[in-house]
Amino acid sequence: MTIPQTKHAYFEGEIVPIEQASISVMNQTFNYGTGAFGGIRGYWNDSEQQLFLFRPADHFRRLLDSAKLLRFDLTHTPDSLTAALRQLLKAEGWKNDVYIRPLAYVTTEGIGARLHNLDHDIAMFSVPFESKLKEEGAHVTFSAWRRVDDNHIPPRGKIIGAYVNSALIKSDAVLAGFDDALVLNNDGHVSESSGSNFFMVRNGVASTPPVTANVLEGITRRTLIELLRVELGLEVIERQIDRTEVYLADEIFLCGTGVQLVPVTRVDHRPVGTGELGSLTRELYELFSGVVRGKVEKYRQWNIPVYD
Ligand code: PMP
Repeated sequence: MTIPQTKHAYFEGEIVPIEQASISVMNQTFNYGTGAFGGIRGYWNDSEQQLFLFRPADHFRRLLDSAKLLRFDLTHTPDSLTAALRQLLKAEGWKNDVYIRPLAYVTTEGIGARLHNLDHDIAMFSVPFESKLKEEGAHVTFSAWRRVDDNHIPPRGKIIGAYVNSALIKSDAVLAGFDDALVLNNDGHVSESSGSNFFMVRNGVASTPPVTANVLEGITRRTLIELLRVELGLEVIERQIDRTEVYLADEIFLCGTGVQLVPVTRVDHRPVGTGELGSLTRELYELFSGVVRGKVEKYRQWNIPVYD
């Protein structure tokens, strides 16, 4: 089956041909990174012939919060953005899994890094995006870079300029032969990876750094905390995590809208637990995969249908 390509964008309040959705080289966000973005998934449910958006209002709430940190003045709401997104996806007519990229940006052109006296808008586009469980797991290292700090560029929001930090972390890890890297805060504790949140399981307890540890307030993180507690009956603690605890973990996984749920089976050439995909990670992945695709009745409130 050939998967169709992107044809439209939501731009300046309308659905337009993708070629029309372009901005000037003089654009402020292009010059200074002063914008925010998001990443949302749509999952194709073949038996229902439906495309389900996963927690779009939560993603748009975070986008608007990220924009708020940058003093954006927007009239959009999570509901109005979800409606616009449904319209965009209907225009595309996708019948496959997709990834949606909303961007909150400064529309003003010209010189001068600042956050005041500027105009703003939101644009969106979608691309086909499949994913499957990485059975062999990922091999990660600890990055030599440190995580951006709340007092530098707040990482709790998805701020465009802050992703230079993620890009440095990711490329150095990949070029050194790893799949990704975990990154420490300036105080030496674990934050997350270049583009996903971190969980470890040790002695039957799951731990993840708190939202005050310079992590993105991940929607997948929030989802998995709930599924681990409610469905798998596990204790989940949000707390500071030391580097050497990571080396002693029984299971580790990374999570995010882009990566979904990735088991980490090696850290710095040390096996995590047995060095194989752990049973809890597999169970959680199966559960999560059903939930996002609208196959678990109890969590259907998280699945927003695109087609009428
Ligand atoms: N951390 C970082 C740095 C990210 O870029 C992402 C992906 N958006 C995440 C965590 C996961 O967030 P979410 O589950 O909301 O996609």
